[in-house]
Amino acid sequence: MIFSEVIIIGGGPAGSTCAWKLKQGYKECILLDSKIFPRTKLCAGWITPKVIDQLELDDYPHIQLNANYVNFFGIDKKLKSKSYAIRRYEFDDWLLKRSGVDVYHHKVRNIKKQDGFYIIDDAYKCKYLVGAGGTHCPVYNSFFKELQPRNKNHEVCCLEEEIKYDYEEKASRCWFYEHDIQGYSWCISKNDGYLNLGVGALFKGKKVNIKEHWDHLVKKLDTLNIVKNYKFKPKGYVYQIRDRVGRCRIDNAFIIGDAAGLATTDLGEGIGPAVESAMRAADTIINKTNFTLHSIHKKSDPIAMGIMLFLWRIVNFFKIKRHSKLSFR
Ligand SMILES: Cc1cc2nc3c(=O)[nH]c(=O)nc-3n(C[C@H](O)[C@H](O)[C@H](O)COP(=O)(O)OP(=O)(O)OC[C@H]3O[C@@H](n4cnc5c(N)ncnc54)[C@H](O)[C@@H]3O)c2cc1C
Repeated sequence: MIFSEVIIIGGGPAGSTCAWKLKQGYKECILLDSKIFPRTKLCAGWITPKVIDQLELDDYPHIQLNANYVNFFGIDKKLKSKSYAIRRYEFDDWLLKRSGVDVYHHKVRNIKKQDGFYIIDDAYKCKYLVGAGGTHCPVYNSFFKELQPRNKNHEVCCLEEEIKYDYEEKASRCWFYEHDIQGYSWCISKNDGYLNLGVGALFKGKKVNIKEHWDHLVKKLDTLNIVKNYKFKPKGYVYQIRDRVGRCRIDNAFIIGDAAGLATTDLGEGIGPAVESAMRAADTIINKTNFTLHSIHKKSDPIAMGIMLFLWRIVNFFKIKRHSKLSFR
């Protein structure tokens, strides 16, 4: 049995950041992940200046600074702000290597608590256990799920593909609330001629035909001469946006990042909250500070997104009224 004082499960931004900080604090720590890195992670790969600062990414070679365009009700707007784009394939691998901890390729299936220690698949043992395994994190499933089940109304359904494509313009484009979707589609250019395309929407208890929205996106990219005649094979993923933050620590077991369901409610930004929560978990383990995630930002852009959502709701309200009038005739 391998013993380490801290074991982190999951090597995404949450797990690697926690490992990096624990290592800096001289804590004994190992990390387990079911995938061999570099690995594909479905994600648009947009990060904020705050993440760049917190992760000290000055010498990260693959960031691209993009012009930022949004489209709302058919109106295009170039924003003053720029947006930073990374590819998760490179980014997660780089962060994990930089953390300097030993990484074991292992899919965690069973965790039990025994005499104050956590035993993982009868092969690993630790005093502190950090769950950074994303939506299906085994630490969440073992210790937190019953206490605080996921809220179906906060599930985001996505379809995404990252392709190598001859596209020169450095741009991030988002189209909000098109075709009655409560969400948005995007096209983000990356370093070395990659494009990331996708669409994400809230379920809110209704059936969302995400494939239809993907088809709209593909048509639009063709019309705009961004991607033409490409045979796409998008992949789907579901993750949680922020609900009320429940307990994120039980005894010496912690959940961080997507395992704790921290992505912002307006844009589904999850990398920033994953990094922030990981730093707090590491600080708690090193300095015995209080562990709380309530103050992590709940929205990425409260003002702009708040106005857009408000207008979208008004338009929908009148649409519903008009439809209901028609149906009574
Ligand atoms: C299509 C899409 C687009 C997105 N775009 C953005 C964006 O542009 N910007 C942004 O900020 N956020 C975005 N997000 C959200 C963001 O990807 C997540 O919030 C972020 O990855 C969370 O990081 P994490 O470290 O908590 O989890 P993850 O990145 O999911 O990492 C979890 C790790 O745990 C491992 N793991 C899982 N189960 C086990 C197990 N049983 N045993 C061992 N290892 C396990 C996995 O292999 C994985 O490596 C997007 C999400 C999606 C789906």
